[in-house]
Amino acid sequence: MTHPCLRCGACCANFRVAFHWSEAEPSMGGQVPSKLTEKFDPHRLVMRGTQAYQPRCIALEGSVGVTTRCSIHPQRPSICREVLPSWESGEPYPQCDKARIAHGLSPLAPEDWIRFKDANASAA
Ligand code: SF4
Ligand code: SF4
Repeated sequence: MTHPCLRCGACCANFRVAFHWSEAEPSMGGQVPSKLTEKFDPHRLVMRGTQAYQPRCIALEGSVGVTTRCSIHPQRPSICREVLPSWESGEPYPQCDKARIAHGLSPLAPEDWIRFKDANASAA
């Protein structure tokens, strides 16, 4: 059983993903590929695609709610690391719930993680 985020991707197709420009500046330790960004304001960049009326990050691969992956996962902006899947750590996260609902998906529940852990334990 795959991780719930790999069957979702809703948060990557629901919000504007803005972050400080230095995150895409290698000389300052930034790792976000600059070609996948565009200017948002004097201090911030955005991931391309996330300013659209119906946002979808350019780095998102796959179909939301079916199978997805972030093509720059190790290099993704800090703000992406702050959106956590509801209940993985024992509490809900409103941004996760809001994104999933916007894409017609049910918010994650504690039972989803029990099933995920049980399936992986039996597969091990
Ligand atoms: S954090 Fe939530 S909305 Fe984002 S991919 Fe994971 S399950 Fe989906
Ligand atoms: S960079 Fe990756 S994690 Fe961040 S919004 Fe885009 S696809 Fe999602």
